[in-house]
Formats: sequence, structure tokens, C-alpha cells
Amino acid sequence: MVRRDPGLDVALIEKETTPAAHQSSHNTGVIHAGVYYIPGSLKARLCVEGNRLLYDYCAEKDVPVERRGKVIVATEESELDYLKTLFKRGQANQVPDIAWLSREELAEVEPAVSGIAAVRTPSTGILSYRAVTESLARDFQTAGGTYRLGVACTGIEHRAGGTAVVETSSGPIETRRVVTCCGLQSDVVAGLSGDGPDPRIVAFRGSYAALRPEAAARLGGNAIYPVPRPEIPIFLGVHVTPQISGEMWVGPTAVLAPSREGYRMSQISLPHLVSTLRFRGFRKLMGQHLRAALEEGVLELRPALLAKHLQQMLPWVEEADLIPRVANGVRAQAVAADGSLVEDFEIHDERPVMNVRNAPSPGATSCLALAKMLADQALDGLGRTVAGGGGA
Ligand SMILES: Cc1cc2nc3c(=O)[nH]c(=O)nc-3n(C[C@H](O)[C@H](O)[C@H](O)COP(=O)(O)OP(=O)(O)OC[C@H]3O[C@@H](n4cnc5c(N)ncnc54)[C@H](O)[C@@H]3O)c2cc1C
Repeated sequence: MVRRDPGLDVALIEKETTPAAHQSSHNTGVIHAGVYYIPGSLKARLCVEGNRLLYDYCAEKDVPVERRGKVIVATEESELDYLKTLFKRGQANQVPDIAWLSREELAEVEPAVSGIAAVRTPSTGILSYRAVTESLARDFQTAGGTYRLGVACTGIEHRAGGTAVVETSSGPIETRRVVTCCGLQSDVVAGLSGDGPDPRIVAFRGSYAALRPEAAARLGGNAIYPVPRPEIPIFLGVHVTPQISGEMWVGPTAVLAPSREGYRMSQISLPHLVSTLRFRGFRKLMGQHLRAALEEGVLELRPALLAKHLQQMLPWVEEADLIPRVANGVRAQAVAADGSLVEDFEIHDERPVMNVRNAPSPGATSCLALAKMLADQALDGLGRTVAGGGGA
């Protein structure tokens, strides 16, 4: 927005004192290719476009990135139908160079991975999204934006004449446009502006283990994913992903988080748990997926079971190859009142306030494409500012 209209005053407020303190630095660090998403959805379009924009951006700004490729591996006949569906989706989404691999072709690409077929996407990459966010924050300030860390939004009031007042922990800001994108707090902050309660964010905590270096060295360098369960396609299953730091992570699991930003199980918030359990959508969701939820919990607690689980794709892995709990993250997943998981990105625009209600994975991959779309929408109708007039 600041680049497109240098006359605008644009302020970005962030309640934490560092950039990317939550999901954007507690994630797997994968640049997704765009396979999983329903053709025509925002996710499908913005992920594929975001993938390309992100590689270009990293090249321009010297942000370390590696184009590693990824295999989605079927280990049982029963998974082939859904793998074929994903392959067709990837083709429809125009994922570059997507390929179907036979058992033999998979063995050439990843000799230590066992599977009966796979889909490979060479455009999958890895990077640090913290580094990307820090670079974007520098760009924003250089272009004239005001970046205020440690400032929380505490209220949003619509005013007559189409403006809004954002109440913050360091005073009010009157503005002609507000865009909120608050991750784990997105429903709470949207609620401050009068947006409805649906969908609600349910926080799922995930933990990663790491493969010991000798075990990681057996792999060919691709990200290695199982075929997700068709009934919960947005949880991609426990995967093995190289990190830009050189580690090889295994995970994440997905269990109910003890609080919205509860990275450790000791960070329990009783009001959060009570309110989640009282949410009808969550109870319905658990009613449908209780078994899967319990299995995920057990995987995190028992590294031996995590190793056994991994053996479907990596039959040689043993518990001793795993370093448990090297990292964790909490994902913001929007859940509708009827218990369905909101799959696509969801944005509610009630001028002058635009609330991003759901931006889960591949939100980080899509960040530049999503930002472009939001900026177009936010600037539309604002009119160009008179030189020197400022105000946004
Ligand atoms: C475990 C995990 C793995 C993932 N892996 C990947 C991956 O490999 N690839 C990928 O593309 N995506 C991945 N994702 C998804 C991706 O991380 C998110 O889609 C993306 O980071 C969302 O960005 P965001 O800015 O919406 O949310 P966040 O990064 O969570 O940022 C929201 C910000 O809003 C701030 N905030 C909240 N409330 C207020 C307030 N009242 N006032 C001011 N500021 C406020 C928070 O402090 C926070 O910094 C993963 C997510 C998780 C959790």
C-alpha cells in the first residue's frame, strides 16, 4: 500500500515486541507448491502465485531459500485414489512440473523412502519465514510505513463518515481503512469491530521432533509427506521436512493448545479451555474426529509410536533416530459453528474494516500474493491522496 500510494500514511501495529512472534516464526518453513487446494479457491490461486513471488523476493533481497522439491507418498493401495485426486488438483492449479512417480521412480528420487507411488513437486522450497517477515518490515519502513511493535489493538469503532478509530495500548488512531490479520487472535480482534462470532479460531498445538544427522543423511533432500486423510485434508499428516538451518524435522502433531498462544503444555489457560469446550463447533468437530485427535496426542507423548508411524514411509527409522520436541507451533484454525473446518482463506470486509478471519497454511507461502489482494481491496475506493495530504 505504501509503495503504490506514497501519499498514504500507513501504520502497522503488532502487539509483540518482535516481528513474526507467532505462527509466522513457529511453522515448518515450507514454500508450498499448491497441490492440496481445491481448484478455484483462494488458497489454490494465492499459493501458486505466492510461491513464485516468494522465490523472486528472496532472490532480490538475499533471503536464504532452497528449492528442494517434495514427494507426497502413498504407502498403501487405499491411499492411491486420494493421491490421484491431489495430482489432478495440482495440475488444475498449474503447479509447475508436477509429476506422478511410480514406485521405481520414487526410489530413484528418494531411495530411502518406501512407497507404492508418489506425487513430486519440484517447486516446493524451504526458508525461514522469520527472515522473510524481518525483510518485509524493513521494506515497509523504507517505503515510508510506520511500524509500531509492542502496540496492541484493544478496540475498533466505526465512525460516521466512513472512518474508524482503532483503540490501541498507546492511544487511538483515526483512519479511513483498517485491515486486521491477527492469526490466533483473529476472531477476537474481528469481534472488536462488531464482526460476528463465526468462524471461531481453535488453536491446535503441534510439536516437531528432529531426525538425528546420521538418519537425515540417508534422505535425498526432498520434503516427504504422507497422503493426508481425505476427511481432514487440511492437516497434512506427520511429515519430514528439511530446514534452512540444516536440521530435518518430523511433525507437526496437532492437539488442542492449552491456550491461544500456548506453545508449552504448561501454559494452560482455563478460561480458554472452558470457552473452547463450550463452543458447539469444537464439540461437533471432536465428535467427528475424536479418534484422530487422540492418535495425534499419543504421537507427541510417545516417540516410539512416532517412529512406528514414520516407518510407513521410512521403514528403517527407529526411536533412537529421533530427537523429540525440538520445536513447536500453534496453528489458528477457523472452525464454523456447525463443526466444519474452514478450508479456504476467509476475509470479512465491512468498510472501513477488513478482517482476515482465516489464514492458515499455506498462508506463509501465499503471504505476498495475499497481501497484494488485500492491498488492492483496501485501496479500492479510498481515492488517491492529495500530495502531502496523507491520512489513510
Ligand atoms: C505449526 C505450523 C506449521 C505451518 N507450516 C507452514 C508452512 O510450512 N508453510 C506455509 O505456507 N504455512 C505454514 N503454516 C501457516 C502459516 O504459518 C500461517 O498461515 C501464517 O504464518 C499466518 O500469518 P498471520 O500473519 O496471519 O499470523 P501470525 O503470524 O500468527 O501473526 C498474527 C500477528 O497478529 C498479532 N496480534 C494478535 N492480536 C493482536 C492485537 N490485538 N493487536 C496487535 N497485534 C495483534 C500477533 O502478535 C501476531 O504477530 C504453518 C502454521 C503452523 C502453526
